[in-house]
Amino acid sequence: MVSSKKFDTLAIHAGQDFDPTTGAVIPPIYQTSTYVQDGIGGLRSGYEYSRGGNPTRTALELQIAALEGGAHGLSFSSGLAAEDAILRAVLAPGDHVVLGNDAYGGTFRLVDRVNGAWGIRNTTVDQADLAAVESAIMAETKILWIETPSNPLMKVSDIAALAEIGHRAGTLVVVDNTFASPALQRPLAHGADVVVHSTTKYLGGHSDVIGGALVIDDDELHEKVRFIQFAVGAVSAPMEAFLTIRGIKTLALRMERHSRNAQAIAEHLAGHPAVETVYYPGLATHPGHELAARQMSGFGGMLSLAMRGGEVAARTFSEATRLFQLAESLGGVESLLNYPSEMTHASVRGTELEVPANIVRLSVGIEDVEDLIADLDQALSRV
Ligand SMILES: *Cc1c(COP(=O)(O)O)cnc(C)c1O
Repeated sequence: MVSSKKFDTLAIHAGQDFDPTTGAVIPPIYQTSTYVQDGIGGLRSGYEYSRGGNPTRTALELQIAALEGGAHGLSFSSGLAAEDAILRAVLAPGDHVVLGNDAYGGTFRLVDRVNGAWGIRNTTVDQADLAAVESAIMAETKILWIETPSNPLMKVSDIAALAEIGHRAGTLVVVDNTFASPALQRPLAHGADVVVHSTTKYLGGHSDVIGGALVIDDDELHEKVRFIQFAVGAVSAPMEAFLTIRGIKTLALRMERHSRNAQAIAEHLAGHPAVETVYYPGLATHPGHELAARQMSGFGGMLSLAMRGGEVAARTFSEATRLFQLAESLGGVESLLNYPSEMTHASVRGTELEVPANIVRLSVGIEDVEDLIADLDQALSRV
């Protein structure tokens, strides 16, 4: 009934039926590991043991699936646990994965080092270059892994065109939608097969929970991944699921403000003498601007800067902001600053995914934008 509703309504109501026993508007946090059976095998509502299923987790899985417009949602203990589940469900030794050459460092580490150790190969490629993607796919390629906008250089790639290339070659097309969130971009509608989230970021939205999710349309693939989720057990706990549900209810509002603040900051910094380049898809000068305008309904809260003064300027600036706190992660209501080459992307140093030493990444929060700009200006005045 709820699924025919629009996004902002689904964010609040999908999967969130009131508690039938007490009438509580907010479904309870089912902090339980197990469920009483009425006689052997007599389950009251299908729940047997919370690794296999828990009503709070179900509420989150229904909510996320509705927001991405997919048939099935699966919630995990982290974004990487979600990624691991889809990789395990699909890949066997000898298989091959194509992923972006600026994919999230942890994704590359999982594909290259963890999966590489048991015979799964990968090729990294510039996903904005469709011909390069096409030629990277080989007979053994089982997954085309897309991340757009990418991290930290905010490269935008064409999900529909890439999905067509992947499907023509018989690969599964997976999109990591963490940066945009379903409020701004819905990959399944552009032809992707699977959406991955680190719900730690915008979906949770308050920097107080680690989690991940998958949304899958295909019933058979969903069954395979559900089995991995149950058999491996990297599920989200009830409290984590509750916090994520609570965060998601304000997702649409938050993304509007994140986008507005980031746009104002990008425009302000684009003319700054200490800044060489501002990487933000909302700027008309960004190479992916037109594609982003078609593919997304807003440009999001993430942007990166290349500092004219190189590594020294980037480090000085990174340690001089006050409102923007120096920390890994992103997507919370509070503004954060990250120095990728030594923080989030330290694991890809020395690889093709290495991030230049003059790059600083901002996760623009929903504070007053004048305060944020004043903070950036005072920090820039020190470099
Ligand atoms: C953070 C992040 C992940 C990993 O998620 P965790 O919740 O930290 O495990 C994956 N992809 C992107 C784009 C991320 O930003």
